[in-house]
Order: sequence, then C-alpha cells, then structure tokens
Amino acid sequence: MKNLLLGLVFLLSINSFAQSDSIFIRNIYDEALERGEAYENLRSLCKDVGARITGSAEAEMAVKWGEKLLKSYHFDKVYLQEIQVPHWERGTKEAAWIEDEQGNIYKLKVMALGMSVGTNGLLTGEVIQFDDMEALQEADPSTIKDKIVFLNDAFNQKYIRTFQAYGACYPQRGAGAAEAGKLGAKAVVIRSLASSNDDHPHTGTLRYDSVGVRIPAAAMSTNDANVLANWIKKGKVTLRLEMDCKTLPDVTSYNVIAEITGKDKKIITWGGHLDSWDVGEGAHDDGAGIAHSIEALRLLKKMNYKPQHTLRCVLFMNEENGNMGGKTYAKWCKENKENHIVAIESDRGGFLPTGFDVRGTEEQVKFVQQFKNLLYDFHLFKFGAGYGGVDIGPLMDEYPDMMQLGMTINSQRYFDYHHSEADVFESVNKRELELGAAAMATMIYLLDKNIK
Ligand SMILES: [Zn+2]
Repeated sequence: MKNLLLGLVFLLSINSFAQSDSIFIRNIYDEALERGEAYENLRSLCKDVGARITGSAEAEMAVKWGEKLLKSYHFDKVYLQEIQVPHWERGTKEAAWIEDEQGNIYKLKVMALGMSVGTNGLLTGEVIQFDDMEALQEADPSTIKDKIVFLNDAFNQKYIRTFQAYGACYPQRGAGAAEAGKLGAKAVVIRSLASSNDDHPHTGTLRYDSVGVRIPAAAMSTNDANVLANWIKKGKVTLRLEMDCKTLPDVTSYNVIAEITGKDKKIITWGGHLDSWDVGEGAHDDGAGIAHSIEALRLLKKMNYKPQHTLRCVLFMNEENGNMGGKTYAKWCKENKENHIVAIESDRGGFLPTGFDVRGTEEQVKFVQQFKNLLYDFHLFKFGAGYGGVDIGPLMDEYPDMMQLGMTINSQRYFDYHHSEADVFESVNKRELELGAAAMATMIYLLDKNIK
C-alpha cells in the first residue's frame, strides 16, 4: 500500500512540462559543452592522482583531491565521511608460464584477481579446463584435486548490451576461486572478462567463502586464454604461477560529500566511485562517474538552481573490493534518520549516454518515462526497469520505497578497457563525457522538481 501511494504521488506530480524546463535543460547542456569542467577534472584525477585502489597512497590522495575540488566550487557543504576499508596489495611478482609435454614454454600475460592470496613461491600444477562455472560445479572432485583450474567462459557476442555478457561471465571471476578451492584445486586462472580479443589481462575482485580454503586466482588476457585452450586440445599442459599479492589490515578512508541544501528535508543522492583498480588510470571505471557527478552539482549551482530537496553528491570509496563506502553511507543515513527519495549512479564509463535504468516499482519506472519526449533531442531515449549501481545499492535496503537510477551509456567499448591497463584518460572522449555530466544534471533537476 505504501508503495502504491508513493507511486501515485509520483504520477500525479507531472501535468505537463513548462517551456521553462526546456530552456533550463538547454542551458545545462550549453554550459557543459561550451564551458564544461568535467574533462579537465577527469584529466587531473587520472594524471595528478593516478590509479587508486582502496587503501593505497593514491586513494588517500584521491580523497584530498576530491575534497579540494568540491570546496573550490563553494557548495553549501563539503565534508568527509570516515569509513573502514580493506587493503589489498598486488605486490611485485606476477607471472605465469605454460609448458606442454614436448617442453615448449609460453609466458602468459596474467594479473592477480583483487583480494587473491599469493602463491608463496612458484606454484606448479597440471591445468584442467572448464568452459563455464556450471561445468566446474558438476565435475568429479577427484579429477580436480591438486590441479590448476582454467575457467574459459567467453563473452556471448550476441548480447547488444555488453553488461549482459559481463554479468553472465561474472561468476567465474567472483566465485571461481571459492568453487575450485572447495573441489581441491591448487589455483584458478580465468579468461579475462572482456568483449574483445586483446593482450591485456582484466582484473577485478573475487570473493572467498568465509570458511573455505583460499587458493590463488589470476586472470589472463583473452588472446592467451585462446592459446592455452589450443594447447590443452593437443595434450597435457603444466602451468607455473608466481604472485606475491597480499591482504593487509583494514585502514581508515573516506567518502567525499558535497551538498546544495534544499527547501525541505528530503534528499537526492548521486555519485560514482573514487577508488579504481591499481592498473591503468581508472578513467572509465569510475573516474568518468566522478567527473559526471561533480560536474552535475557544479552545473546546477551555475544555473543558480534552488532545489526543493537537498542535492547530495557522493564520491564513494571502495566500490571495487568491498563496497564499504556504499554500505557505510547507507547505515549512516538511516542512523541519522534522513529521508531519502532518490539515488542515481554513474558507473558504466564515460561513453555517450543513452538514458537511465530505473530500479523501483512499475509506477516509478512510468514516472521517469514521462521525461522521454523532453530528452529525446539530447540523445536520451532509454528509460526502463533496470539496475541502479553498486554504491547506491545498500541505500535501497534501508529505504525500500525509494527509487534508484543508473545512467546508461553506449556500452560497446566499455569492456575493452574495464579493469585493465587500457583504462586511461586518453580513452575517454571529451564530448561524450560532457554529455554524460549534462544528462546527470538534467535528470537530477527533473526529479527534484517533479517529486513532491
Ligand atoms: Zn566501477
């Protein structure tokens, strides 16, 4: 009943859009495209700070960077929110070789998966391949004992939205080590979660079972996964793996927050994540979301917009390997008895925006779809039920009646860069990034104005 009522309030709030809305949105886009600061801010985050895995010196610098930048815009409030975060380090050794029965040797391009344990010297074992997680789960444990499991699930090229292909392959990275460990394997190596055949491994976090044995896990480039699969077709293959990555004690870090105070006590949150993986520069993931989020608040202030609800931009820490920023933020909001109505996330890269996924009731989806005609000329046309984002996810657990939105982009190239050394500033297009920032500002404006 409560949901239904909320839905009605949403639906009844829009009678028609005033001409002033069109003009306001046009002005947001003009400012973003002619005098935008998102691109320079992203350059600075990528080049002056660099890759910023949670717990690293770079992550600490990123917090300072974000706080100083937000303060320079003179928003109503800028503050840090203390959180405890995991601290995993890749270490200095990261190598793997395969050897066939004739003694031929080939060096694989590998990277440890985030949170993996090290190999404690050189680890050697015979490789056993599985084409997906289901095949591994159905295998006879005696065939796996003391072997190195190779998970070779490739992206399904038929999906139009590459996030669907990523989601389908995700279990081999997230749960491959836990599953293979349970079955007695020594280590696990996976095919990188990437759209294309390329030469760089794509990292990402894994999750061990809290009780199970912890075995080392690494990703290899998609090209090398094809090489290994071909070798296995011809006979027995031995793999040698050396990694000295490790997990250190938790450290203190921060979410960085800025606000424009509203007329009432309701809150609209949006953001991206400030941490990234430790390779490349975290440009698309999620430097772009950070640049979008900061620029959205700057644009609304520049328009001299006086919001109905408090507008709060959050630069979340630790999305990649623990989501402690998102979890702590949600808990803190609830404890402070705040009233949250909407949250929006940008964490799908700095590509051309296409619309917004809506996580909520059918009424809430319909409510957002009413903006369609107004936004078509700005290349925003996709408004349907979908996912919000990892950072804002825990907020939904505390406020089940709220609505969450995830900005969608043209996803065709995202998984060429994702979690790899290729995710650098130069891979982001200036106009596409600026259009994303303007789309965020526009959606925040429309939600603020039309949700009572
Ligand atoms: Zn991300």
